[in-house]
Amino acid sequence: MHLVIIGNGITGVSCALTVRRLRPEARITLVSSESAHHYSRTALMYVYMGHLRPQDIKPYEDWFWKENHLELVHATATALNTSKKLIALANGTTLAYDQLLLATGSESKRHGWPGQDLAGVQGLYHLPDLEAMTRDTHGISRGVVVGGGLIGVELAEMLHSRGIEPTVLVRDAHYWASVLPPEEANLVDRQFEENRVPVRYRTELREILGDAQGRVRAVVTTAGEEIPCQWVGLAIGVSPNLTLAKTSEIDTDRGILVDEYLRTNVPNVYAAGDCAQHRQPAAGEVAIEQLWYTGRMQGEAVAHTICGQPTPYRRGVWFNSAKFFNLEYQTYGQAPASPIAGLESFYWEHPSGRAALRVYFRAEAPHAVVGFNALGLRLRHDVCEHWIRQQAPVATVMSHLGAANFDPEFFPQHEKAMVTAFNQQFPQQPVALKQRKGLFSLIKK
Ligand SMILES: Cc1cc2nc3c(=O)[nH]c(=O)nc-3n(C[C@H](O)[C@H](O)[C@H](O)COP(=O)(O)OP(=O)(O)OC[C@H]3O[C@@H](n4cnc5c(N)ncnc54)[C@H](O)[C@@H]3O)c2cc1C
Repeated sequence: MHLVIIGNGITGVSCALTVRRLRPEARITLVSSESAHHYSRTALMYVYMGHLRPQDIKPYEDWFWKENHLELVHATATALNTSKKLIALANGTTLAYDQLLLATGSESKRHGWPGQDLAGVQGLYHLPDLEAMTRDTHGISRGVVVGGGLIGVELAEMLHSRGIEPTVLVRDAHYWASVLPPEEANLVDRQFEENRVPVRYRTELREILGDAQGRVRAVVTTAGEEIPCQWVGLAIGVSPNLTLAKTSEIDTDRGILVDEYLRTNVPNVYAAGDCAQHRQPAAGEVAIEQLWYTGRMQGEAVAHTICGQPTPYRRGVWFNSAKFFNLEYQTYGQAPASPIAGLESFYWEHPSGRAALRVYFRAEAPHAVVGFNALGLRLRHDVCEHWIRQQAPVATVMSHLGAANFDPEFFPQHEKAMVTAFNQQFPQQPVALKQRKGLFSLIKK
């Protein structure tokens, strides 16, 4: 079998490594236009900030690929002929495949703003974006970041780390309003304030102004404000990269359409990771998942199917994590940004405004826990997942909170204050804090 994978991101590489394990004799070729070797996209910001060198974000040494008989092709795939099972590459060659995985990832969204093609205006997705940002922000004093999501805050932190003043434009009334409740967003706001990053809420970009050399010199907002700047970061989200799929008869919508086995409508062609759109997502799941860990899970699942062990992709309990300047964030399960019928939530915040916990649970007895938000605290993944899967009553969770605390012993422990706050907010179901116990003693009970 010759498996060709287009894209050497986390999805493509996870598939390649799993197939190598399951089928040691398979021929596997990874094609990527971006880089010869796989690297960690999520660590791009740390290269800009000087915390890591470019070679540090390669999870595998360069010899690893040859050692594992994984052929790397650094080229752009320009066209697919699925009836002949051929892929045309931009370097003029063609590749024949028996099985094909499209793991082409995403591309930064653009909105069609006047001036968005000026020099010094860009998104952050690929290595060339990092190179452009490094070049175009050298020696400048002010930047503008458009977008109140995860990449927006990363861009602001990156500029700030080099002494460049970023102004952030956020369309909504608070930061990441589609995901964070207002209380959690306030904690992120505090990070912006402490780092002296001005944020304009309820404000969008209207236009980008250029100078005589075709470089950005200012932006104009929907509030009519003109903000002088020498660089603009567009962080309004990403969309699946469909360029290659669209050269063929593979069904696409917003993404490449796949079934639960990550199969497209064309035999022997699969799609996974950021570029894939599930035709029928399971209840509570989204059709397009643009996350590092779901890319890895999809890559591993599709590898089994490719190797003749049909394995449906199941995401399981939702999880995500991020960092907003110095504030760590984790979320598990169902954690809506605004109240929804049938769900209640308990919220605790440390007086410093640097830590918070929200526990979501069903309004109906026995008040099963469905999700968590944690900021400035680290929760144990296995414990939170176990509680959500087991539909543990909120009283059990609150009285055993210590089991979920991942912070080392010498960090301040807040469980007592959390339980006190819970009993004040929900006096009808008072709980008492139990001794710190490991997950396994809880499971045995
Ligand atoms: C700056 C940044 C920070 C992020 N931080 C987080 C985070 O903290 N946590 C998290 O969960 N997620 C994060 N993400 C999202 C996460 O990185 C992606 O979900 C993940 O990388 C997607 O992996 P993938 O393998 O599906 O696609 P990609 O990593 O996009 O890889 C696809 C590859 O395919 C190549 N390709 C596409 N078309 C062709 C073609 N025709 N020919 C050849 N090659 C082609 C592309 O060049 C690319 O290298 C972040 C993303 C960015 C941009």
